Amino acid sequence: MSDCIFCKIVKGEIPCSKVMETDRILAFNDIHPVAPVHVLIVPKEHVATFNDVGESRGEVLAEMYRAAQTIAREKGIAETGYRVTVNVNPDGGQIIFHLHMHVFGGRKLTDAMG
Ligand code: 5GP
Ligand code: ZN
Repeated sequence: MSDCIFCKIVKGEIPCSKVMETDRILAFNDIHPVAPVHVLIVPKEHVATFNDVGESRGEVLAEMYRAAQTIAREKGIAETGYRVTVNVNPDGGQIIFHLHMHVFGGRKLTDAMG
């Protein structure tokens, strides 16, 4: 999608602080972190919301969860604890309509968004 911020990040048109990358996903630091570790994981293919993940895209979702585990381990928060969140549509707090997973931790989290 040409006007999608995360598609532009995937294409390198907008810079990001990259955390990890595979053929299918990209992980980068959130520009407004709410915790010491706050990483976003996105599929490289544009998928608007979690609702749009059909059977054919199940693998990419699994890969995003695996990436969350790897990132938590590498950032040293796997044992202290962290949260993996997908906000869906306006009531769910979704602002960017390109599917993404938040991984946050590094402090005691209190409410739903940290
Ligand atoms: P949402 O509320 O849609 O689940 O979360 C969107 C997240 O994207 C927010 O935490 C916001 O800080 C982050 N974000 C928005 N624009 C950019 C950007 O240009 N670069 C990065 N790295 N993060 C962004
Ligand atoms: Zn997109």
